[in-house]
Formats: sequence, C-alpha cells, structure tokens
Amino acid sequence: MQDILNYINGQLIQPKSNLYIDNIAPATGKKIGSIPNSSAIDVNLAVEAAQAAFPTWASCGADQRSKILLKIADLLEKALPEFAQAESLDNGKTLKLASTVDIPRAVHNLRFYATAILHAHDEAYYTEPHALNYTRREPLGVVACISPWNLPLYLFTWKIAPALAAGCTVVAKPSEVTPLTAFMFAKICIEAGLPAGVLNIIHGEGAHTGQALVEHPDIEAVSFTGGTHTGQRIAALVAPKFKKLSLELGGKNPNIVFEDCDLEKAVKGSVLASFSNQGQICLCGSRIMVHQSIYEVFKEKFLAKAAALQVGNPQDPHVQVGAVVSEGHYHKILSYIDLAQKEGGKILLGGMPVQLEGDYSKGFFIAPTVIENLPYDCRTNQEEIFGPVVTIMPFESESEVLKYANSTKYGLAATIWTENLTRAHRVAHQIKSGIVWVNCWLLRDLRTPFGGMKESGVGREGGFEAIRFFTEEKNICIKL
Ligand code: NAD
Repeated sequence: MQDILNYINGQLIQPKSNLYIDNIAPATGKKIGSIPNSSAIDVNLAVEAAQAAFPTWASCGADQRSKILLKIADLLEKALPEFAQAESLDNGKTLKLASTVDIPRAVHNLRFYATAILHAHDEAYYTEPHALNYTRREPLGVVACISPWNLPLYLFTWKIAPALAAGCTVVAKPSEVTPLTAFMFAKICIEAGLPAGVLNIIHGEGAHTGQALVEHPDIEAVSFTGGTHTGQRIAALVAPKFKKLSLELGGKNPNIVFEDCDLEKAVKGSVLASFSNQGQICLCGSRIMVHQSIYEVFKEKFLAKAAALQVGNPQDPHVQVGAVVSEGHYHKILSYIDLAQKEGGKILLGGMPVQLEGDYSKGFFIAPTVIENLPYDCRTNQEEIFGPVVTIMPFESESEVLKYANSTKYGLAATIWTENLTRAHRVAHQIKSGIVWVNCWLLRDLRTPFGGMKESGVGREGGFEAIRFFTEEKNICIKL
C-alpha cells in the first residue's frame, strides 16, 4: 500500500481536507493505496509557498536553475526501474513501455529544458538614430500545471520542466487516476535540494482540487493537458481573469495509407499508432484510411499483426497490450464498441474484454479492436474513444481522404504513408492538424512546436514555445 502525500513548501504532508480517494491498480482491480483529495485550503497553502519561493527562484539565474533540474534528472534516471514499475502498476501500461518510453522521456524533458534555458536569448533593436530598445522575458510568477493519466510522469515533467527553467514557481496537479510517480518525483526533488516552495504537488480530483487551483487568484497561468471538455471548462473559468492559458486536448487522428506506400512499414507503423499504450495516446491514429487499390491486402496484413499482439499482465515482457486505465474508462471504451455495432460497424478483430486468470481476473483488459464499414461522419469516427479501438475504411482519391481526415472537430495529429514526396507535402499542407508525420508515427524532436488545431487545443508546447509561454515580454526603450 502506498499512501500518497501532497508536496507543499518542501515537505510531504497530509491534506488539510482529510479527504482521500482510493488508488486502484487497473491490471488487478485492487486498491494499492490512497490519494489526498485536496481542498481549496490545501491549494491555498501550495500557492502561498510558491509565491514565497518565487522572488529568489526567479532571480537566482538560469545557471543555478539548470543545475538543480539536471540533478533531478540524474536522480530520476538512477531510479528508472522503480519509477517504471510504479508507472506500470498505477496506469496498467506495460513495464516495457514505461521503462523505454515514459520514464526515459521524463528524464529527457528535464534535461532538455535545463539546458534550453541556457541558450534562451532576448531581442534588441537599435532605433536609429536616438534610442535602444531591448526586450526582456520575465517569468510569470506562480503557475498551475495540470496533467492527465495516459503518460503520467512524461506529461507532468513536460510542463513543469519549462516552467521551472523559465523561473516560475509551480503548483502542479497530476491526474488523480495515476498519482504515484508524481509523488515519488517529489521525494527526488527534496533529495536534489530543490528549494522549498519552488515546486508544489497537490493531489485530488479534477472538479475538486483542479478547479480550486485554476480559480485561485494568484495563479498567473494555467498549462493544461487533458480532455477537450475539461479544457472548455477551464477556459471558461480563467478567461474572465485574463490568465494565460495553454491547452493540449483530445484527438481523433487520421492515419492515411496511400497506394504508393512501403506496405510493410505502413502496416507496422499503423499497428503501433493504433495500439501503443492501449490506444491511450492523444496522438494515436484511430481512423485508418487506406487507398481502395491496396485496401484488402493492407487489411489482411494489419489484422494479422494486430491479432498477434499479446494482451495480459503488464509486467510480462512478452505482453504488448496491458490494461486500460480504470474501470470507468473500460466501460466507456466498451460502450463505444457497442455504439459502433449499432451504427453498422463490422468488428474485424477483438470487440470484447479479455478475461485473464488469477491476480489479473478483475483487471480492465480489452482486446485490440478493428472495425470497418462505418461512414466517416458517424459518432464512432468523430468522437475520441481513447482505447485500443480503430476504424478502417477505403478511399478513392486524395480529395476524398482529405474530406474524411479534416471532418472531425479535432486537429491534433495525422500520419501519411506514401513514397511520393510531392504528394506527402501536398497532403500534409492540406491537413488541419498541428502535427503531420510522414512514414513514421510519434517520432519526436523536443525542439519542435507541439499542439493541436481546432478543438485539440490552444497554443504550442515544445522548444522555446514553452519558455515563451511561462514568461512575459517587457520592452525597455532607452533614449540615447
Ligand atoms: P481529464 O480532462 O479528465 O483530466 C486531465 C487533468 O485535468 C486531470 O489532472 C484532472 O484531475 C484535471 N481536471 C479535471 N477536471 C478539472 C477541472 N474542472 N478543473 C481543473 N482540472 C481538472 O483528461 P484525462 O481523462 O486525464 O486524459 C485523457 C484526455 O487527455 C484525452 O482526451 C486525451 O486526448 C488528452 N490528452 C491530450 C494530450 C495532448 O498533448 N493534446 C496528451 C495526453 C492526453
């Protein structure tokens, strides 16, 4: 049992609310500990600590901030096996994915921003003949970072690293569904000597703790990753207060396979894009569109590869598909499979829970599911399912597939498989999404802008975009 504590003003403490929620391991359905359900009083304490820490942290210099962040990264890297175990236990994802993607990427996020800040530069303008303007970027103050459950520490550090590097102090709230690694991370911050109050981590439910945090009058900015509906709610709360807001929201991403693709690569990449992390990545390609001339051959190869994926105990190195994150989410995914059938969809693969034995008999496992015969504009093809469920459909022409691809309210990512470079550029330019991958999926360079169009979000993370978000420009004009 791991009872989680808040991290406020450099200390691990129980919530003043004295309220707790159960932490359930999705692979077994068993309770593994308790999580504080922090109240506005706890939020207040965290914000006060962050306010007190701000002047020193903001003015100690990029070099000093960089050193501490690098130390945290080193300690996290050393503890990678324990963190990967915890992430797998808490989220249901495979230990392999947690060890090779989630935790290494969290280390990378910290190192990336610890060093990026050393290369940040300001602007200067000589106003001929009589003035000099220079533009300074000042940290905003106390900011809120709110992250989801699908890539818990990966996305948590993706927000706090640039905020801390830029000189802000932070009150962060990880998802109440997967709080374990953020709690362990607090211990590492203490060990690394991060000054008290610079980072505060409070736990609790979104509508309770999260809302109290975004509404707090001394929070200058909110960086949020999560569902579109939650993003809308947060935007409505903070807009009248003119707080800065960054929103990374849902997706329903097209995966487009042209007849001139490298078929083997397209099949392999599409299986990864469909079922990695049980399909619970905002960037997953959940709508597969295949040119009619290769539809049958692609489908056969894709189904064979997807059918070979082993579903089971996330700790087993041979397993590629673990548990989905919670009982509630499990039922949501199954209800979408029902809906797809009511909408006329034909289940080609899966379409049902997977019943395991022994310790895992009460876990939340769903078979990789592939559905065809659905129109592009039905609910199954328009709404985010966020599970191991994809649809597959044929298309005849580029204009037709662009219509399908751009038909949803989302615009996060897209993947195109083609060996024709001209086509790759032409189609990429016409897709309405913040990210387009050609002949690859989830190939990330942390310097590039990351974010979505339409209802997939507002603003961009990544590279200096995130540093710009957590700072505000001030222009100083000097008459010579
Ligand atoms: P969610 O919106 O339910 O929760 C995200 C976070 O917001 C959690 O920490 C939650 O406690 C908090 N929250 C919920 N209600 C709140 C409120 N009223 N005020 C303040 N905070 C609140 O999302 P989720 O179910 O945890 O994550 C899945 C969603 O996240 C999917 O839609 C997925 O596409 C999206 N996502 C997007 C990206 C991206 O980069 N665009 C990345 C990962 C996940």
